[in-house]
Amino acid sequence: MIRPMLLAGALLAAPAPALAQRQAPPTPAPVDHVVAKLRDAALTDTLAYDIVEGLTTEVGQRLAGTEAEARARTWAVARLRALGFRNVHVEPYQMPVWVRGEETAEVIAPFPQRLKLVALGNSGATPAAGITAEVAIFRSYGDLANAPDGSLAGKIAYVGNAMQPTQDGSSYGANGVGRFVGPALAARKGALAVVIRSIGTDAHRNPHTGGTNWPAGQQPIPAAALSVSDAKLLERIADRGGPIRLHLTLTPHFTGQGESGNVVAEVPGRDPKAGIVLIGGHLDSWDLGTGAIDDGAGVAITTAAAKRLLDGPRPRRTIRVVWFGAEEPGGFGGREYARVHGRERHATAQESDFGADRVWRFEVNLPDAASSVTDRLQSALAPLGIGKGPGVGGDGTDVGPTIALGVGSVDLNQDGTRYFDTHHTPDDTLDRIDPAQLAQNVAAWTTMLAIVANAPEEIGPVAPRK
Ligand code: ZN
Ligand code: ZN
Repeated sequence: MIRPMLLAGALLAAPAPALAQRQAPPTPAPVDHVVAKLRDAALTDTLAYDIVEGLTTEVGQRLAGTEAEARARTWAVARLRALGFRNVHVEPYQMPVWVRGEETAEVIAPFPQRLKLVALGNSGATPAAGITAEVAIFRSYGDLANAPDGSLAGKIAYVGNAMQPTQDGSSYGANGVGRFVGPALAARKGALAVVIRSIGTDAHRNPHTGGTNWPAGQQPIPAAALSVSDAKLLERIADRGGPIRLHLTLTPHFTGQGESGNVVAEVPGRDPKAGIVLIGGHLDSWDLGTGAIDDGAGVAITTAAAKRLLDGPRPRRTIRVVWFGAEEPGGFGGREYARVHGRERHATAQESDFGADRVWRFEVNLPDAASSVTDRLQSALAPLGIGKGPGVGGDGTDVGPTIALGVGSVDLNQDGTRYFDTHHTPDDTLDRIDPAQLAQNVAAWTTMLAIVANAPEEIGPVAPRK
């Protein structure tokens, strides 16, 4: 009885047609009823949750290049074939494999106590017995950059940050630099080792791992992330003045070249000349949690959306779903995909790799000749609470190398407000996923696929985003 009353209320609240015409000069593009039906049905999707639940339960963590990631590929192939996808296969490649070892830290002076930290991916190692050294405190990456060359000889550098929760994830770009390249910079200034404040927005004692990058030829030094709580503790000790001595033991190591791979599946299109619509996420995860929000959710969302197109009339364009391998330690799967497939015509490429919370915005990079596609996306995504953003789309580690070849994009931006509370921590587990928000993601991706894969417009090359 409640539904008819709600419907009547909605009708009463609707503006009179004449008024609507006066107030809204640009007429929105009409929404195709097939697209609307697909979109609305996807709001009750359960497949994405089933996939991420299965992957995190039956495989768990999937560190790149390890046997766990190989088991995940086997799992993925079986699941994608069972769902009816075509051309399901693995495209293997070699990459350097890094595994975690012991990781402990202890303030020796002035106030002896243990700290919680984890090694950053690609970190070098201390001797098994650890090292003890004075800490040079830098509250930000900028402060570290201003330190004179050679001034860190014999010291452990600490690098702080001011990471804040943001809906668009912009704080990650601004503060993440402390993790991405801070350790390499400290090494060049002579540091023995580096500890950073986690790139995280929580107040828990869970450190956040994540990859750090070393320029070719540079020997990795030990590099770790303190939990945000422990980083603040270390800064408070520093505020009291005097030298801080830290004992640090980190024994991760590279095991040599190992196999990773991209898992590929397709919804075949009718028109091979119209270009491929490439979508996906990454299959590998860090080893601390079970890789639910990063990025089991991404492969689950994109696969569930593609499945809805697979079950309907054949789309114009082939939809290619890729579960990329080895994203976390350095984007190996995305580069390999572009190397193998870069010469094939792609209409657009986009990925889901920012958690499992709702999509709130979309941004495109499409040729002018396809601007009507953007108009239709805007109309069809609006009922999901998704508006068009001011920027140019075309983002992501996995699809980035393909986009760089001049391929267009439709980015569906997820709400990142709570993403960095658990990102790369032991708490990246299924429990963080809200099934309703996950289904909204599937609805957004289904809508995008229904419009882009079937667009009669030609979607040709674009100038890559700067
Ligand atoms: Zn990711
Ligand atoms: Zn990640």
